Amino acid sequence: MASLIDQLAELTGHRDRQHADALLLQTLHELLQPAVVALHRCAGEAPEQRWLTTTNGNSVVGPRTSDAAPSRNFTAPLDTYPERLTCLRQMRTVVHAGDPEITLVPLIVGAQGTGVVELQSPEPLPQYKRHTANAVVRLYGNFLALLDYGERDALTGLYNRKTFNDSFMRAVLGTAADSRSAGKASVPSSRYYLAALDLDHFKQVNDSCGHLIGDEVLLITARLMRTELRTDDGVFRFGGEEFLILLEAHREEDAHAALQRLRQRIAQHHYPQVGQVTASIGFTAVQPSELPTSAVERADRALYQAKASGRNCVVGPAAMAEARMAESSTRGGDVDLF
Ligand code: GH3
Ligand code: MG
Ligand code: MG
Repeated sequence: MASLIDQLAELTGHRDRQHADALLLQTLHELLQPAVVALHRCAGEAPEQRWLTTTNGNSVVGPRTSDAAPSRNFTAPLDTYPERLTCLRQMRTVVHAGDPEITLVPLIVGAQGTGVVELQSPEPLPQYKRHTANAVVRLYGNFLALLDYGERDALTGLYNRKTFNDSFMRAVLGTAADSRSAGKASVPSSRYYLAALDLDHFKQVNDSCGHLIGDEVLLITARLMRTELRTDDGVFRFGGEEFLILLEAHREEDAHAALQRLRQRIAQHHYPQVGQVTASIGFTAVQPSELPTSAVERADRALYQAKASGRNCVVGPAAMAEARMAESSTRGGDVDLF
């Protein structure tokens, strides 16, 4: 009992979700001693949702879990695993008898199934272990719901401004540490880019269609961002109709291409009652160990340039450098006049 309480105290003491997920698996492993324990999160937006699997160092094996590679982050379309899907959608525990026996427990956050915990054991799990598994996963879901309440924006479900600083620091300091330990011979590693996205003439949407429709536009845009960007890109609602995107890429051109795709996706979407909505995007390369405020300031400057260049476009470091050159040559011209 004391050990269970210690485990739960440890589990609920972390705000970093990846770390907390790993601790959930470790806790279940230590308490129940199954052969395999895995968390399958439902990632992405419908209809493109996928299972994103994290295991506790073991491979996920068995009749319907043929993703046997000992991978920490394996993804597969949702309908690859119908029993998992039943567990997720109906939010109930599913037990598949056999060798191994597979127990699937839904991870419910708020009122929504967000993932499935899978336990595999060669023998049927005794009733008390199944009960413990359900209770721990339920408690973990409640803990995540409380975290969400503080860290997510209520309208769009995206992470909020407060969470941005933490995520930024973690990502950027992590990359700085990686590049120090990478050594000279390593392949050039990726780096982070920060983008600021702002809807164009959004005030007009509110004025002509009303605030509620405006809210719907924000909600749909958030969904488009989640669908179009990769699941590990960070998307945050920074202010009214301004969003931040923290993405990892090998080259500036790759970041630019991903943001162009997103911009086009938004411009091509038909928003109910509004029609077309466009967005301007400015982005910058994040410098090792820099503070979030200075990166946000540069991304905002690029966004301002995108607005000044006619909106519905993406401006990055290359375009900013060109604009600076053009400006300094104009100034040089002025100096020649005197
Ligand atoms: P620009 O192309 O220069 O960005 O023009 P804009 O009209 O989008 O920019 P501006 O900053 O003038 O207007 C932003 C508007 O966003 C004003 C505000 O009413 C609206 N807004 C901010 N937050 C929300 C929100 O949560 N819901 C709704 N419906 N509107 C919001
Ligand atoms: Mg705007
Ligand atoms: Mg704005």
